[in-house]
Amino acid sequence: MFIGHGSPMNAITQNPYRDAWLKLGKTLPRPRAILCVSAHWQTQGTQVCAVEKPETIHDFGGFPQELFAQQYPAPGAPDIAQMTCDLFTNGEVTPRLDWGLDHGAWTILQSLFPAADVPVFQLSLDVNLSFSEHFALAQNLAGLRERGVMMIGSGNIVHNLGRLDSSGKVYDWTIDFDNYIKSALEVGNNAALIHIERAGEAARLAVPTSEHYLPLLYIAATRHADDRMRFLTEAYDLGSLSMRSVIYQ
Ligand code: ZN
Repeated sequence: MFIGHGSPMNAITQNPYRDAWLKLGKTLPRPRAILCVSAHWQTQGTQVCAVEKPETIHDFGGFPQELFAQQYPAPGAPDIAQMTCDLFTNGEVTPRLDWGLDHGAWTILQSLFPAADVPVFQLSLDVNLSFSEHFALAQNLAGLRERGVMMIGSGNIVHNLGRLDSSGKVYDWTIDFDNYIKSALEVGNNAALIHIERAGEAARLAVPTSEHYLPLLYIAATRHADDRMRFLTEAYDLGSLSMRSVIYQ
């Protein structure tokens, strides 16, 4: 699944996104482990977190103490993290021992798996890769699903913090780009997902930086041919965020 996470405050406030995550969580099978690709872990080279007890990382500022007090004490999955590295015989993916769960991961996992008893590990976004290189790398992860690993991407299809607007207005380019991606997902058009420049000016404004968009490519790339796709949430927040979430099952 790809979850549009939006503001970290969504984790502790009453809102339709958290409601949807909680409701979905009650219907999900219990996976052997969860691999989370979050917008909030970017590195040189692709890394997986291979710690036994990932710490809850509060990687934000200016939020209430209640948010900093949140903990998500799920175990790590060092064995599956190593297995993930081994999928790449060229050493393209390496283990790392000084990361945990950033807020892209724990703010949604708290609702999806509130018991925090399913092992979780993160895979980073290599800042040096192009969109098509991210997609190709992610395709190598598809086999993890057969081994009981649930793939979760956490970001936002439209994410322009410089243009947030609390007046209730939604920019045309937010709607246009979100619709462009919606259509691509509905027909399984991977090329359209990779080459977002085809959406023109809307893509430039909706994806001013790539990190919140890229987790979607990791989920699209690990789709199975017989998966059914559905949207969990379809909404806009603060004018320049798409809260669209996608489930493949
Ligand atoms: Zn974020």
